[in-house]
Amino acid sequence: MQFSTQAIHSGYTPNELDGAIIPPLHLSTTFKFGNQNNYDYSRSGNPTREILEKTLSSLDGNTHGLAFSSGSSTLATIVSLLDPGEKILFSSDAYGGTYRFIVNVAAREGKEYSITDFTDLEETEAILQKENIKIVWVETPTNPLLKVTDIKKLASITHKQNAYLIVDNTFASPIFQQPAEYGADIVVYSTTKYINGHSDSIGGFLSTSNKELYQRLKFLQNAYGTMLSPFDSWLTLRGLKTLELRMARHGENAEALAHFLDKHPKTSKVYYPSLFHGTQGEIVKKQMRHPGGMISIELRPDSNVQAFLNATKYFPLAESLGGIESLIDHPATMTHGSIPKEEREKIGLSDSLLRISVGIENIQDLLSDLESALKKA
Ligand SMILES: *Cc1c(COP(=O)(O)O)cnc(C)c1O
Repeated sequence: MQFSTQAIHSGYTPNELDGAIIPPLHLSTTFKFGNQNNYDYSRSGNPTREILEKTLSSLDGNTHGLAFSSGSSTLATIVSLLDPGEKILFSSDAYGGTYRFIVNVAAREGKEYSITDFTDLEETEAILQKENIKIVWVETPTNPLLKVTDIKKLASITHKQNAYLIVDNTFASPIFQQPAEYGADIVVYSTTKYINGHSDSIGGFLSTSNKELYQRLKFLQNAYGTMLSPFDSWLTLRGLKTLELRMARHGENAEALAHFLDKHPKTSKVYYPSLFHGTQGEIVKKQMRHPGGMISIELRPDSNVQAFLNATKYFPLAESLGGIESLIDHPATMTHGSIPKEEREKIGLSDSLLRISVGIENIQDLLSDLESALKKA
């Protein structure tokens, strides 16, 4: 089965009893003892959530999946795999909430961490050899600078030290990147973004083909109560069915806007994976089917960022990404505000950086909107 067929058919088949084509929404919190599927209590297992888990893990090419209440609670549950003395290795060029949770929450509970730059795998390997790293958490492309990491190489140096590689695949989605194929032990998402895709449900997900790891994580999810609600599972499942179609349009629109912005005299920098040269460009070609739907830009220092933001009609200033509607984010004051300014500067995240989530609107409308807003900048 290919993506869309899998997204529509792999997790659910209409049953003999009622023949419903669309999976039912099971709100029941408890189940009569002795049922064939062994459901007992909805925190531990819910039929609607399990359809989502089957479907999305199969899109990742993995055998097991768990749906969480958010991308953040997925991270929190995974970090609790760490035993005392074991560390998580991550990059500060990551989603702001990832930094916030590891540094300001988990570390205070005694979980240890180290920070690296995953575009420098020599530095990363040196840390892995020296320190007791159990979990390597990488985002590729990163948020918001869209830097990419060679997943296959990182998996190989991670496994040499008997650590787990976890890839946050939120920006690419399973349509544009398949981390499990390159050796990731766990693939994670904030389903809030492209997977659900309609900006109306917060959720998270992990998939793995390591059964022992899955069982431990399922135990932890049940103990914490970090699972996704039946209604959000149902909504996410609905969004998932059009993921391939939406990604194609997000990608096509972003590619066109990135080239337009790159040539525009008012921009000084455009970050978009297909514009990358050298090693970064090679990694994009090697492991991504498409550079994706996200673009980051810097306007020329003499331009008026506020006037530009006020002048766009179809790009409201708002957090989040991956929905059908286009959005603009100002990382320094919004999504990445919890990363200290010195740390932001170190990773090249300037105060004038803008991140654009390109929606699925008509490309001519998006182009002419940006064109006229840039005139005011
Ligand atoms: C949004 C996001 C998260 C956090 O997910 P929530 O669903 O908001 O908790 C994690 N990683 C990335 C890359 C994200 O974009």
